[in-house]
Amino acid sequence: MNPSIDALRTLLSSPQKIVITMHRDPDADALGSSLGWALYLKKKGHKATVISPTDFSANLHWMPEADQVLVYEGSTAKPRECKALIDEATLLCCLDFSAISRLKELGRLVADSSAVKLLVDHHIDPEDFAQIVVWDTKAAATAQLIYQIICQLESADFFDIPMAECLYAGIMTDTGSFRHGNTTPEVHLAVADLMRTGFESNKVHRMIFDNSPLNRLKLLGHVLGDKLQVLPEYRTSYMTLTATELEKYKSSVGDTDGLVNYGLQVQDVVMTALFIERKGEVKISFRSFGEFSVRDLANAHFHGGGHFNAAGGRTTLSLQDTVDQFLKLLPFYRKQLQSVEK
Ligand code: 5GP
Ligand code: MN
Repeated sequence: MNPSIDALRTLLSSPQKIVITMHRDPDADALGSSLGWALYLKKKGHKATVISPTDFSANLHWMPEADQVLVYEGSTAKPRECKALIDEATLLCCLDFSAISRLKELGRLVADSSAVKLLVDHHIDPEDFAQIVVWDTKAAATAQLIYQIICQLESADFFDIPMAECLYAGIMTDTGSFRHGNTTPEVHLAVADLMRTGFESNKVHRMIFDNSPLNRLKLLGHVLGDKLQVLPEYRTSYMTLTATELEKYKSSVGDTDGLVNYGLQVQDVVMTALFIERKGEVKISFRSFGEFSVRDLANAHFHGGGHFNAAGGRTTLSLQDTVDQFLKLLPFYRKQLQSVEK
């Protein structure tokens, strides 16, 4: 018996007014798990709205009902509608994040809301703000957790094509297209169930990965050609992107997603970082292989967190000072980096 599932079952036995939200700059897991959960809840007769703290990437606009997502901050923001929905909500679902600060300005409304809060997440160290918690750091994706919740509330044949597309998108992207170490038998079993709905998994891959504005590919060419630095002694690589470069390549939200992963493709490299200068702060993405925890690095030095092998952080220093800080840290991690198996 899982007490969280029992609490959810009880709560959902009568019609609820539900708001679902996820971390800022949502990726395919954050948005896919939220939309998949919303589709489920609506199918069960609840009122459910998805609110994103910020605009989201153009390659996620194809997702079923993505056009109904309300944005709190950004070019298409409707903050008053968001506030009204949160005010009247009886259940507030927080998906794919575990710290309120990941919601930007929307965080205040969520923290102040008196609705019952449900947290569904797979990041480390969740804050204590939800009454019902489905949290598993071993889960490959939040979409995998949503799949498991729905399986416990219903039978596996409850899934339909739109739900499957949303959840598959989250699982597929958070496992790096089933390449990362988090690709467990449970992942493939979930995908098998979702594929039985008859959705076109190939279409989901195409919409997410083969759907780039030309400028995004040119930016990738520039970064790989001119910006990728390798430090063999530390088995580390890194890239930087200035605000001027982002402007030159007309980079919009989501365009830099996935860029960081190229740094790990370099032979013998086990840790990589991407530094992006954006709106008065530097956003950093870290990736690693094996036993080197970029979550600890991000948490100890860059106000961040995430997963063991994929983490992020931010500074309000200049881009150069942030990179210098990173480079100065490397000697302290040298031994650890040297011992990672690749
Ligand atoms: P990305 O590099 O793709 O932005 O993020 C990688 C992982 O780190 C994601 O799971 C994301 O949720 C987490 N992450 C990214 N930025 C931050 C941050 O500023 N704070 C925390 N706690 N986690 C972050
Ligand atoms: Mn996720």
